[in-house]
Amino acid sequence: MKLYNTMKRQKEEFVPIEDGKVKMYVCGPTVYDYIHIGNARPYVVFDTLRRYLEFRGYDVNYVQNFTDIDDKIIRKANEEGVTFDVIADRYIKEALKDAEGLNVKKPTVAPRVTEEIDGIISMISYLIEKGYAYEKNGSVYFDTENDEDYGKLSKRDLDQLESGVRIDVDEEKKSPMDFILWKPKKEGEPYWDSPWSKGRPGWHIECSVMAKKYLGDTLDIHAGGEDLIFPHHENEIAQSEAANGKDFVRYWLHNGFIKVDNKKMSKSEGNFFTLREISEQFPYDVVRFYLLSSHYRSPINFSRELMLSAESSLGRIKTCLSNLKFAFENARTKELTEEENTLLKECEEFKKSFIESMDDDLNTADAIASIFDFVRFANTNINENSSAEFSQKIYEKIKELCDILGIETEVKSEEVDTEKIEQLIAERSEAKKAKDFARADAIRNELLDMGIVIEDTRQGVRWYKES
Ligand code: AMP
Ligand code: ZN
Repeated sequence: MKLYNTMKRQKEEFVPIEDGKVKMYVCGPTVYDYIHIGNARPYVVFDTLRRYLEFRGYDVNYVQNFTDIDDKIIRKANEEGVTFDVIADRYIKEALKDAEGLNVKKPTVAPRVTEEIDGIISMISYLIEKGYAYEKNGSVYFDTENDEDYGKLSKRDLDQLESGVRIDVDEEKKSPMDFILWKPKKEGEPYWDSPWSKGRPGWHIECSVMAKKYLGDTLDIHAGGEDLIFPHHENEIAQSEAANGKDFVRYWLHNGFIKVDNKKMSKSEGNFFTLREISEQFPYDVVRFYLLSSHYRSPINFSRELMLSAESSLGRIKTCLSNLKFAFENARTKELTEEENTLLKECEEFKKSFIESMDDDLNTADAIASIFDFVRFANTNINENSSAEFSQKIYEKIKELCDILGIETEVKSEEVDTEKIEQLIAERSEAKKAKDFARADAIRNELLDMGIVIEDTRQGVRWYKES
């Protein structure tokens, strides 16, 4: 499999450090509000990478953190008159609900910064001891001048970076690019004791500490949105490589932005849509499908039209699968015919091209196109004479590809009241038998109002939820 490595600015063959195992770290959200659909992109695309690696037989150790202390969390807590952990706990719970809705698998470990303070203090102490960091008035900074490699991920050199930064007269840093590892508390802020001051960690150090603790000195894959390349990931590299004396990451992966009117969607711009509000209009599986419909590195716009189009595309897949299911549950013959056997062999092409696309830097857009080719094939080749085995095999093969993408294909039972629907269908059949067609039509309309379509077929009445 090839992955685009931001460090090398090219696609490279993926070879993990240890055979059959993948150590993967994805930077998680800062929890001071509901997550927006931009934040959902790394959730979904890197979960899909994990699922695909698992499908390829790798054992994936997937770590994703929660930043549960920061200025924005403290500000929100002050606005509400509660402590910071009330805010963090609330939005961690909400983020978990959103992740579950999006069918994102639970990380192997999901650490929180405030539970890792001891590790953070020991890494900072070590960096000071080795001369990579220095203390000033209770603050600790990373000394970028002492790091020849600084800028290697974002491809900027230090002089260039420094010339772009305004230097404050009262600046306590030695160099403008030095970044904070520990900051002393301000009045009323939460704090932890440390050798330098009562205070809290800077943002970047948490990921270096958690990555080392849960995955070791060198990771196979480290991922996040492209806004994290600089300074966050650059600073993680600086800290980790100084502390561990080893390469920090083999493959750096970054997703492109979700935009609104060609501007990055972000909380600070105020142009964001939370997943929660979107989910009132579109089910989560449509959101996941929309996010996977383009390549993860391309920027994508968020619009109602694109969501509607995702909804109808996903609907086509679901309808095909439900037709297949009906076909094999009600087939008149069981065993494959010779012709069907030949057709089944032809289907292997769809899986092959799906895998080729996924192997090419996780090209989910093309992989989905292969699923549609498969759906067209099924729609053309399945009919009421198909054997049960044939329809079922096709069903399973399409479903397998959807599962790799984490696309749910079953209509969830809580979405429809199966018992009520079946009772209405039975009543309608009775009405038809009694030649009470007005009643039969009324029942059909009642079902339609519930979004349920019924069809009279030679094998009996079938129903499905309208997509
Ligand atoms: P944050 O909570 O801002 O730290 O973001 C959590 C994750 O979402 C990070 O990986 C960000 O890079 C990513 N992210 C934030 N905004 C967007 C966006 N508009 N499009 C894609 N990814 C984003
Ligand atoms: Zn991080």
